[in-house]
Amino acid sequence: MSNLEMDAMYRECGISNEVYAFGEKILKELAPRFAAIDETAEYNQMKVIRAMQKNRVSAECFNQSSGYGYNDLGRDTLEEVYASCFHAEAALVRPQITCGTHALALALMSNLRPGDELLSPVGKPYDTLEEVIGIRPSKGSLAEYGISYRQVDLLPDGSFDYDNIKKAINEKTKMVTIQRSKGYQTRPSFGVEQIGELISFIKGIKPSVIVMVDNCYGEFVERIEPMDVGADMMVGSLIKNPGGGLAPIGGYIVGTKECVENAAYRLTSPGLGKEVGASLGVMQSFFQGFFLAPTVVSGALKGAIFAANIYERLGFAVIPNGSEERHDIIQAIEFLCPEGLCAFCEGIQAAAPVDSYVTPEPWDMPGYDSQVIMAAGAFVQGSSIELSADGPLRPPYAAYFQGGLTWYHAKLGILMSLQKLYEANLVKDSQLC
Ligand SMILES: *Cc1c(COP(=O)(O)O)cnc(C)c1O
Repeated sequence: MSNLEMDAMYRECGISNEVYAFGEKILKELAPRFAAIDETAEYNQMKVIRAMQKNRVSAECFNQSSGYGYNDLGRDTLEEVYASCFHAEAALVRPQITCGTHALALALMSNLRPGDELLSPVGKPYDTLEEVIGIRPSKGSLAEYGISYRQVDLLPDGSFDYDNIKKAINEKTKMVTIQRSKGYQTRPSFGVEQIGELISFIKGIKPSVIVMVDNCYGEFVERIEPMDVGADMMVGSLIKNPGGGLAPIGGYIVGTKECVENAAYRLTSPGLGKEVGASLGVMQSFFQGFFLAPTVVSGALKGAIFAANIYERLGFAVIPNGSEERHDIIQAIEFLCPEGLCAFCEGIQAAAPVDSYVTPEPWDMPGYDSQVIMAAGAFVQGSSIELSADGPLRPPYAAYFQGGLTWYHAKLGILMSLQKLYEANLVKDSQLC
């Protein structure tokens, strides 16, 4: 196919010559990084395939169960596949786990008892966990059940405060929670090896402590996962990385037999545990999504790196920066004005396969102190492994951007975002050369 045809197709999609040419120029420089991402995807693809082969995944696994869901072969096999792939003793992977927050709450509430203490050695956890823990008072929080919480903030340079972590570990410390991805904070995301160093340090002080890693947005970004560096439990959402864009709902917990059993007893009931829980019709999408996840994550990573390099070159602050190593799929871009943030989100929306014709508007989202703008045209509601962006309308007017089921869609979305900034005169001709 000639490049003329490609040029014409981008034009047809609304991307001007100037924007397209700028994108291609940036892309050329990224070839070595994209090759490294492809290698990671190749490695992780085999990890998933081997786990499926070892656990004898068969066509019967895609049958649906209803009612109690006793002897659901698909559900039980999928849990074996997750456990094998992530090198854990056991797994709980269920459509009854409604989202990432639910999975994390389940892991915490089922493994802590009254009088225990939870420690976060990496600063404030993800917003939605504040009510789970009781940092912000809430019905049914850990605090209401007499479980205390301690937090050690990161040092100003983003590293672990080992001295204060050591001081914070006491006879009550039962569990430690480590969040791999920065979420909506500005601290760096942690690499798996770095998490391993922290786990070794903590276990050196108190070997009996249970270490849980919030792995949201991290799965398949590297060749190793937190279970490979000493975590007792690893938790995430299926409408993020490991669902591969196909899982319509769900969350997972993998870990030691004991930790996972506690979680299962809490999810269903003491005594019933993993034995019940009908899979309804979702097993095929869970298996197939997990199979696709390494490639889907690689596309999302390429999109994040492409966006970082485009906007860095145009003079915007980007976190992580264009050349940094990646530990999750999130990219933040600071636009410094509301118009820039809104134009960016409009572009992401306009490039979507679903709801491309709507214009995102800032709105007063419950729980936020400023308006928030969101762009998503997703097949699965709220799925953030699909191309999506959002940001609060307050300085520094940062867009948080993630996902893309294919690299080509992520590329179109980013070019379209730039197109909107260009059309709004927020990016000038002179910047695009
Ligand atoms: C998304 C996310 C969560 C919560 O997941 P939901 O599915 O939105 O409830 C928790 N921690 C981190 C780091 C996340 O990125």
